[in-house]
Amino acid sequence: GKRIGLLTSGGDAPGMNGVVRAVVRMAIHCDCEAYGIYEGYEGLVQGGDMIRQLYWEDVRGWLLRGGTLIGSARCAAFRERAGRLAAARNLILNGIDALVVCGGDGSLTGADVFRAEWTGLLDELVATGTLTAEQVAPYATLNIVGLLGSIDNDFSGTDATIGCYSALTRICEAIDDVFDTATSHRRGFVVEVMGRYCGWLALMAAISTAADWLFIPEMPPRDGWEEDMCSIITKNRDRGKRRTIVIVAEGAQDRNLNHIASAKIKDILTDRLHLDTRVSVLGHIQRGGPPCAYDRWLSTLQGVKAVEALLALTPDTPSPVVTIRENTIGVSSLAETVKLTQETAASIDAKQFDRAMTLRDSE
Ligand code: ADP
Repeated sequence: GKRIGLLTSGGDAPGMNGVVRAVVRMAIHCDCEAYGIYEGYEGLVQGGDMIRQLYWEDVRGWLLRGGTLIGSARCAAFRERAGRLAAARNLILNGIDALVVCGGDGSLTGADVFRAEWTGLLDELVATGTLTAEQVAPYATLNIVGLLGSIDNDFSGTDATIGCYSALTRICEAIDDVFDTATSHRRGFVVEVMGRYCGWLALMAAISTAADWLFIPEMPPRDGWEEDMCSIITKNRDRGKRRTIVIVAEGAQDRNLNHIASAKIKDILTDRLHLDTRVSVLGHIQRGGPPCAYDRWLSTLQGVKAVEALLALTPDTPSPVVTIRENTIGVSSLAETVKLTQETAASIDAKQFDRAMTLRDSE
């Protein structure tokens, strides 16, 4: 059986522990060994006791734990070839011939770079006398499988990333709590939610909480949005609505690509509508807490799929990433998914932006 290394990297997300549990147990079930690589790529670069075998009972109870118990880190060294060379050496010294990486866009980009460089890294390890040709021979190809762990749901090619529904649930609960105060005092609340360049969390939270107005990066509001927002809020309040909620994605911008800050919205509501308005930046509570039921089964089924995909890999198959589409777990090409995701993010300034404008102007 294979020796499967496993790491969680980048921003932590609820469900990452479910992935570790599923991969460890599925690996053991398939007569493989599982190795936890602690602190993300940092553990891979450092080696030593940062890489430890994980057994069936080590991951007991992990399904319902938030964050990631094997740690995560931002690792500058892995961005450099020298760091990845050390990482390759550590994998071989531990006899690890397959790698499962659970993380966001950055982490999977790193995995793809590592895979593409692999042969060159092995040559260099031999050329520099770090390892012998006999030592590297069994590791000619690096089998990598990616899993999408991120609260932002900012990946192309999959309906949901592991962690996004837990974060959405947390956001809704927080807004429900703010509602009580807002209703009691007839207040306005501007709630800022995470998501980086992606508005999914903000959009879904706005629908789920019946918010009055929403700002997301994918849909910059037209010029004069201040009046648009104020007139809708006034209409809603005239109908007897006692509380006003405006949701802002942290990456929200206007059509001139200026960031739309929560404080600015607060000032508009205060100055133009004379609303007693507060800003609530939800921050890291969105990332914390136990995974919701969706993320528990998603992380379990995708972790199982990751091991299956690893074992099915042949030298010519491109590295896969585990996805979910129309409620079906599957795999896509890691490199293509990463590329598509980066193009989509980049196009928010251009293509998406233009489309949003066209839609709005024709209203
Ligand atoms: P996320 O995975 O949540 O998007 P980051 O973007 O911080 O988080 O990436 C996590 C880690 O992945 C980085 O600290 C770095 O070690 C590695 N990484 C990111 N991008 C690259 C890259 N282009 N090349 C190599 N490693 C990378």
